[in-house]
Amino acid sequence: MKYENLTLDRQNTRLQHNCPSCGKSETSSFGEVRDLVGLSAFFGRPIRLLRCNSCGLAFKEITTTAEAERQLYSGWKAQGQDVYLPSQPDGISYVKSLIDKHLNQNFQTSSALSVLDVGVGEGYFIQMFSRHQTYGIELERMPGLDYEKMLNGQLIVGQLETLDLTPYKGFFHLVTVFDVFEHFLDARAAMANLGKVLRPGGLLAIETGDMDSFAARLWGRNRWWYVILPVHKLFWNKASLKKALAAEGMEVIHFERKAHKDGTKFSYKHLLAHVFKKTLYLISSKAYFALMRRLGKTERLPELARFPWKDHLFAIARKSK
Ligand SMILES: [Zn+2]
Repeated sequence: MKYENLTLDRQNTRLQHNCPSCGKSETSSFGEVRDLVGLSAFFGRPIRLLRCNSCGLAFKEITTTAEAERQLYSGWKAQGQDVYLPSQPDGISYVKSLIDKHLNQNFQTSSALSVLDVGVGEGYFIQMFSRHQTYGIELERMPGLDYEKMLNGQLIVGQLETLDLTPYKGFFHLVTVFDVFEHFLDARAAMANLGKVLRPGGLLAIETGDMDSFAARLWGRNRWWYVILPVHKLFWNKASLKKALAAEGMEVIHFERKAHKDGTKFSYKHLLAHVFKKTLYLISSKAYFALMRRLGKTERLPELARFPWKDHLFAIARKSK
């Protein structure tokens, strides 16, 4: 099965029955999720969106693995595409100011702190912290990116869930994890690593989609664009996040619902372009791809419609002292 530049097979997809956060097996179903890439064929069953009866986390029964994502991103990069969208300054400066406020309340910020960004991408966010000692985690080194310039600490290559982070135990004052929580296969292992690398009183800043947001509930959670995206696996809300963090000694000290950090600006130009592309694609996918080629763009499916709703959650948690 081909998805963009990636060949999906049973090896890089997975069937998941138990809750990836608390491990329990009692679940209920929100219904079937549209299968954009044919994952259900490998397992002979539809993709259901399940909800853990114990902790409330929602997860897809059939997902791609981290290896599939690594191949997908490096394929995009090899084609010369931007893997990570540049951030909108408005959105990230708001998030940065919230984090700074909490750093000032918790630490002596006149001296440099140690900061880790999980999923550094092209470094737009971590570079705002360059007066501190900055580290990053990424699935692999992306060609063409200068990590030595981006980070004054180190790049740690690997997956948060499987990395041995013992050398960084109790090291970081701040860990930021944006647009990553929806990609975990083993949320429990990821949480354990986050709790491990934070020093006592250290802060964790998280942004991910919010299952309880208006946009998620509007047409049913299984129909939310965020759930339909093939590489999104987990869907959090305030309650499931609090539980998972508490299990690793972290307490939520700030929570708000907001638009995606990069998506606070709404542009009619983008909306029109989107409607045009989507319509063309529905009429003739051949014509759509031909147009994309003519425009010198790589052949990608038109993005799913999204509006600048407050459909993300932003939380800051503190590790117990
Ligand atoms: Zn659970």
